[in-house]
Amino acid sequence: MRNQSLKIENARYVVTVDTQRRIIQDGSILIEGGRISGVGKAADLAGAMADRVIDARHRVVTPGFFNGHMHISYAHAVRGIFPDDLGSPLVHVFNLQAAMTEEEEYYTSLLAIVELVKNGTVCFVDPGSTKFPDACLQAYTDAGIRVILGECVTDRESPWNLPRYATGEAVARTASFVQKWHGRLQGRLSAWAMPFSPETCSADMLRGLKQVADEHRTGLTLHHGSGPQARKEYLARHGLRPTEYLESIGTLGPNVLLAHALGLDDAEIDCLARTGTSVAMCPVTAAKGGRGVPEHGRMPELLAKGVKVALGCDSPNNSNHLDLVRSMNMAAVQYKDARQDLRQIPAETALEMATLIGARALGLGNELGSIEPGKKADLVLFDTQRPEWQALFNPINNLVYNADGRSVHTVIVDGRVVVDAYRQSFVDEARLFAKVQEIGERLQARTGVTFPRSRWPIV
Ligand SMILES: [Zn+2]
Repeated sequence: MRNQSLKIENARYVVTVDTQRRIIQDGSILIEGGRISGVGKAADLAGAMADRVIDARHRVVTPGFFNGHMHISYAHAVRGIFPDDLGSPLVHVFNLQAAMTEEEEYYTSLLAIVELVKNGTVCFVDPGSTKFPDACLQAYTDAGIRVILGECVTDRESPWNLPRYATGEAVARTASFVQKWHGRLQGRLSAWAMPFSPETCSADMLRGLKQVADEHRTGLTLHHGSGPQARKEYLARHGLRPTEYLESIGTLGPNVLLAHALGLDDAEIDCLARTGTSVAMCPVTAAKGGRGVPEHGRMPELLAKGVKVALGCDSPNNSNHLDLVRSMNMAAVQYKDARQDLRQIPAETALEMATLIGARALGLGNELGSIEPGKKADLVLFDTQRPEWQALFNPINNLVYNADGRSVHTVIVDGRVVVDAYRQSFVDEARLFAKVQEIGERLQARTGVTFPRSRWPIV
């Protein structure tokens, strides 16, 4: 099945995100051996044959989406339990996560993956939330999606229930995790170093983990404790801003991805640009969490300096959804409003972050992120036979401002159709939903982490 050739024929538009950013009207794509072997006008590819031909007359085709920060372990089972005015839910988050069993994590991860892939995501970074990768491997295998995994490690006291080790042990664990997992699933699985944050990890440990990432030619991601308060504290303690501190201990570079990265100042943005460090920003999480994007969001400046910015959804209890189209929408509208400036984050830029820039931020830009001959065939076909896609003149505006992931019709990863006419075939969804609901009930009972269900009486 893997090497079946595939032709996507007569697409209404193919949004290539190639070097010229061509949008091909009435386009076709030929896929052989899991890679794109041809893309162009349908008439020019009319003679090309394939084992399977997908009629794309009513489809807009884009590259697959990259979710740069997506905790998938615990939250589906307890999605929506935190009241809006709870404040930081992190204490509860880590208690719930710590209480997950292997079987529970498998099912919640499987549900997250179903949601991701049905919304067009072909690759996600789980920043260390998965405790039982052996148990979850079957879900990654069955879904056919790309996964970037790592073991969450810390070596310092933290207010949360995080896995803590001696410094050397954390580094050794990470090295053996990377050796065990990196490159599996025909290269669809990458293993990275995943220290939780600079506050919970010593400089020695971060240095050691960066070395592991460099030696194995893989990546490192961590939560970036940035912003004015963090800056004040770091300047007092180290004489350096948080981002400069990471640079001073050798923990920035082209294989490093910092999550969230709100509240950076110009010197910190320069530091990221200088070192080639990438960031994953979660616009919906920032808005829903009241993180002050008008004051602290620097996405336009990061992009202007050439910093690779990926989009993320954070978790089903942060943004709450796993739909990168909605994240693109938020990024594009959030900055226009925050700056009262309609030139900020055009729809095209939002789509670039979800595709080519996102792929580059995850170190995958040479192989993925655009529809070009030679690249791996990861594609999303949107269904334009839906009211929200009418009328259609500018496919990118329609995608980013009108549509959402619900119009994802077909998804292809490595040339394999993983969502076919809205359907995935790797799991019985009704059974899975019931199972995860059950897990959520058990998990709340076991941990005592529960809240009033609603401000309104449920009778
Ligand atoms: Zn996170």
